Amino acid sequence: MRLTYGASETIISEEMTMENMSEQSCLFCSIASGDTPSEAVYQDDHLVAIKDNNPQAPVHVLLIPREHNLESLNDASKLDEGLLGHLLYAAAKVANQLDIAESGYRVVINTGDAAGQSVAHLHVHVLGGRQLAWPPG
Ligand code: AMP
Ligand code: ZN
Repeated sequence: MRLTYGASETIISEEMTMENMSEQSCLFCSIASGDTPSEAVYQDDHLVAIKDNNPQAPVHVLLIPREHNLESLNDASKLDEGLLGHLLYAAAKVANQLDIAESGYRVVINTGDAAGQSVAHLHVHVLGGRQLAWPPG
């Protein structure tokens, strides 16, 4: 965030960078910070896992990185390998916790318009608790 000063050196406005603007208006940043209520099932230093509020299966959890670094998987670089691996680890952990590991589950990252991505903050879906069709719609 950059601060803008007037002639008298008093702060007259706070000018947002593009990065901050997207974070300020981002639903998943707001959920991760606790400003928007959600039903958390797991959390750690790197992510929060919440119940999807429009579930597509009896178990439908979203894994949301705490940082807004990546708007989609398209933004991933070599530097993000740690976070991406951690998201898969957390998906398996949550599947175990919610008792869908044995029966089976699906881990999905919708990326871009054609995949139906609706929130521009990287997130992972974990779906299970019923037989899932393949190919997906
Ligand atoms: P995607 O379409 O892959 O971007 O996934 C976004 C997901 O976020 C959808 O499955 C929505 O149902 C879910 N969603 C949107 N708003 C909320 C919310 N406030 N709490 C929980 N899940 C949400
Ligand atoms: Zn965000």
